[in-house]
Amino acid sequence: MIETVLDIQTIRKDFPILNREVNGKPLVYLDNAATSQTPQQVIDVIVDYYQNYNANIHRGVHALSQEATDKYEQARQKIQKHFNAGKGYEIIFTSGTTHGINLVANGFSSLLKKGDEILVSAMEHHSNIVPWQMLCERTGAVLKVIPMNEEGELLMDEYSKLLSERTKLVFCNHISNALGTINPIEEIIEKAHAVNAAVLIDGAQAAPHVKADMQALDVDFYTVSAHKMCGPTGVGALYGKEEWLNKLPPYQGGGEMIAEVTFEKTTYADLPHKFEAGTPNICGGIAFGAALDYMNAIGFDAIAAYEHELLEYATEQLLSIEGLRIYGTAKHKTSVISFNIGGIHPYDIGTILDKLGIAVRTGHHCAQPIMDFYKIPGTVRASFSFYNTKEEADALVSGVERARNMLL
Ligand SMILES: *Cc1c(COP(=O)(O)O)cnc(C)c1O
Repeated sequence: MIETVLDIQTIRKDFPILNREVNGKPLVYLDNAATSQTPQQVIDVIVDYYQNYNANIHRGVHALSQEATDKYEQARQKIQKHFNAGKGYEIIFTSGTTHGINLVANGFSSLLKKGDEILVSAMEHHSNIVPWQMLCERTGAVLKVIPMNEEGELLMDEYSKLLSERTKLVFCNHISNALGTINPIEEIIEKAHAVNAAVLIDGAQAAPHVKADMQALDVDFYTVSAHKMCGPTGVGALYGKEEWLNKLPPYQGGGEMIAEVTFEKTTYADLPHKFEAGTPNICGGIAFGAALDYMNAIGFDAIAAYEHELLEYATEQLLSIEGLRIYGTAKHKTSVISFNIGGIHPYDIGTILDKLGIAVRTGHHCAQPIMDFYKIPGTVRASFSFYNTKEEADALVSGVERARNMLL
């Protein structure tokens, strides 16, 4: 039985999209790990921006520009407060997690030399593998992988063995988007710091479920995407410790990131503007702040507790289907269920579910190395959010059963 403190039916009314039908069936949206849906409160903020104070920021003397600048900077403060960053200028607006990671990877080009080592976990998103491979090509640094076990948990003893004075950077996701594993990032950070390596944590998948505390974690960099936590696409944030952000060179050149420009020499603006070249996603940044307000009003403890109940319920029900195997059975995991049934291709199951109005993800989930580890082409992935219900879990289970009977 699900005993929840959340009033899910009231919460669902905030999400207009949840009322729509797909293929004549009520939408059951279980692709939240790819992108979350947007509540009316956030949609209203987006509309208000374009209807009432759309203007470029930080440079105008006129009223609209002032208003937009104030709201944008207030959003930065909301992000700072939410993630408990020490200083507002340690929050850099980005276009999303991928941008944040590339910004850091690019910055380290000038700090690494041949023979230095970068450690990444075996369960990374492609956005957290490719930039490091490119960085290694530029610098001669070597990429090493922290292995995982069958359950989808990192082998921390192996991690300890990989760390040495050659290790300059460690990269790991807080929560795996393909398996749902919650990684022991406190221990990862502490051990990396013991050999003076910097740590970047990819928080894209964690931020919708848990509130990470930058100062308590003592993390060097942390990235998030607004669209996975009730905000719009195309905007996110990178947290960086002041000392690191000062050490890294700017990522892109352009307006906003300069202090003074002559043809002989340009000096860079102070943080955070040094990393915010060009006109940003102003409306998106403001809406990101509104999304944090929305989620905080519900409360992250209540969200995590409810999603955990949904996870346990859906897991148990799915496992009652003959031949179904779940990938990612870590002790600590969030509401992501990746599975296959026998040799049925995940795409075929996903297509039948779509006919029933059920949205899941199929494929390698931008994490090909995990699929190689399990020797499978991909999985079906159902990912639950706080606005999903037990009835939707039931719809998934009966849909999967139906798909199995059709395909086997
Ligand atoms: C979604 C995701 C990303 C990429 O985020 P973008 O918003 O596409 O930049 C990176 N890592 C993880 C773990 C993710 O879930």
